[in-house]
Amino acid sequence: MDDEGRLQRVRRFINTGPGRVAVIVLVVAAVAIAIGRAVGGKTATQRQAAAIRARGLNVLFYCRACKKTGKTHKAFREPFPIVCPHCGRREAVAAFVCAGCKRVIEAKDAPVFRCPHCQHTYDQRLLAPTAQRPGRTAPKP
Ligand SMILES: [Zn+2]
Ligand SMILES: [Zn+2]
Repeated sequence: MDDEGRLQRVRRFINTGPGRVAVIVLVVAAVAIAIGRAVGGKTATQRQAAAIRARGLNVLFYCRACKKTGKTHKAFREPFPIVCPHCGRREAVAAFVCAGCKRVIEAKDAPVFRCPHCQHTYDQRLLAPTAQRPGRTAPKP
């Protein structure tokens, strides 16, 4: 059987009722596989997340031992406190730039705390739990 004959048979098959159903089933299956792959870890967002995990995180820190603040790099799964780049002690906790005075201050775990420099008040009870995570947009209140 030559290729042209096979093609005509396929065309004739597609034009029949069961043939169309078969084509639709194939298309649906292909779409389902594509969606399954996307959900299974191949979306752009998840690729980005994997890239971030691979190179670790740039974080701001505040050292409870030497009171220095600054930027450092930590492995994605490494928990705080991390080793302070200044004094070498594992006393560096997460920090952030104060919205009031723009200085780097300790990110306290307390639901409510104040900036030690300008007394700007942070009330974390109003923030969504995901608000501090990078790469996610927090819902605006
Ligand atoms: Zn230190
Ligand atoms: Zn402040």
